[in-house]
This record gives sequence, C-alpha cells and structure tokens, in this order.
Amino acid sequence: MWGNRQMTTIENVPTQIPLAMINALAYCPRRFGYEFIQAEMLMNEHVVEGLLRHQGVDLAGTTWLAEAVQERRVYVWSERLGLAGFCDLVEVRGGEQYPVEYKKGRPGKWKSDHAQLCAQALCLEERTGHSIDRGFIFYFATRRREEVPFTATLRAEVEALVSEAHRLAVAGTLPPPVENPAKCRDCSLQPLCLPDEVRQLASIAGWERGL
Ligand code: SF4
Repeated sequence: MWGNRQMTTIENVPTQIPLAMINALAYCPRRFGYEFIQAEMLMNEHVVEGLLRHQGVDLAGTTWLAEAVQERRVYVWSERLGLAGFCDLVEVRGGEQYPVEYKKGRPGKWKSDHAQLCAQALCLEERTGHSIDRGFIFYFATRRREEVPFTATLRAEVEALVSEAHRLAVAGTLPPPVENPAKCRDCSLQPLCLPDEVRQLASIAGWERGL
C-alpha cells in the first residue's frame, strides 16, 4: 500500500513516516507494526472497497469551482517531524486552505482518522507557512463532510504519535495486541494478528512482548 510512497531510509531506519501510518498507529500499535514494520496487509472486501472508492480521489489534478479551488493528491511532508505522504484533497475556499480526507464507511467511534488528517495539516503548515485551523473528512457512506478542528490537544497527540512511530520503526519489533476487543472486532488484520490466541499464549508462556 505505502510501497509507492516516497520514503528515504538510512541503514533501513525510515527517516519519514507515511501519513497513513499515523492512522494505523493511532488505532493500534500492533496494526502499525504489521503495516509499516512488516509491510503486511490483508486484502478483504473492506480493503478492496476502500481502494476502489479511492480511485477517483487518487487522480492528481486541479478543479476550479465557483467558490473554491480543489487540488487532488497533494504530496506534503514535514522535515521537523519526519512525516510525508499525500493529502487526498487540499481545498481553498474563502481564503482558507485545509485538507480533506476521503474515507469509506461512516464516522466511527475511533478517532484515528482525525490523527491522520491533523498530521496532513502539520505538513501543509510547514510547507505553506500558514496555520490551518480545521480540516474535513468525507465519508462515502454518509456522503457528508465531518469537520475536524485542529485543537492544541489533537496536535500534541499527533506529535506524540509521530515520535512513537519513529521509536517503533527503529525498534523493529511487533507490538503486543491492544487491550481493546472492540477495536479488534473492527480490525481487518484480525485473521493475521490473532489477538486472542496471542494473548492466551502470552499468558501461558509468560511472554509479555515481542509476539
Ligand atoms: S486485531 Fe486488534 S491487536 Fe491486532 S492489529 Fe487489529 S486492533 Fe491491533
């Protein structure tokens, strides 16, 4: 998935974390481990639907509307944070510039999409020199945009996630399963991760990390 993104490495240690991986880490460190450290993912109907829905969004180009200018698939990066990736859409409307991320499904109870969008904004701010107060996530299931304010709290959470992403990438080991069965139920990687089985084995063998 992220193999076509521009990522530079020094002695196999990534200097840039792909923006989409901030979403994965915000959801679950083990998910980040699978997708980024081990470069593994599972194809299922949800993943394929997401890829198909993204096809139109992933075509780079500029659209001039009466009240806005939309630029699709914009590459952004932050040297300060070591982050890089694409914004699905950068829109300028009424003198305000902000990122718009497209997601299949509907707004969920997990806010990892917010972290990814805010990470895009931090990159965009560094590239343009202008602060960005909010962004939007368009959910295909509801066909509505959800507004996401880039609060000081969210910004701090994202910066902490980026630091943790770099730390985990250097460590290079798969984190243990997250203690949240509801997240595992919603996770496409569950058949690969086997969180219940891994937890059970860990408790039997006394393993705590590295499974
Ligand atoms: S199944 Fe659970 S522990 Fe495994 S990657 Fe998904 S959310 Fe994380």
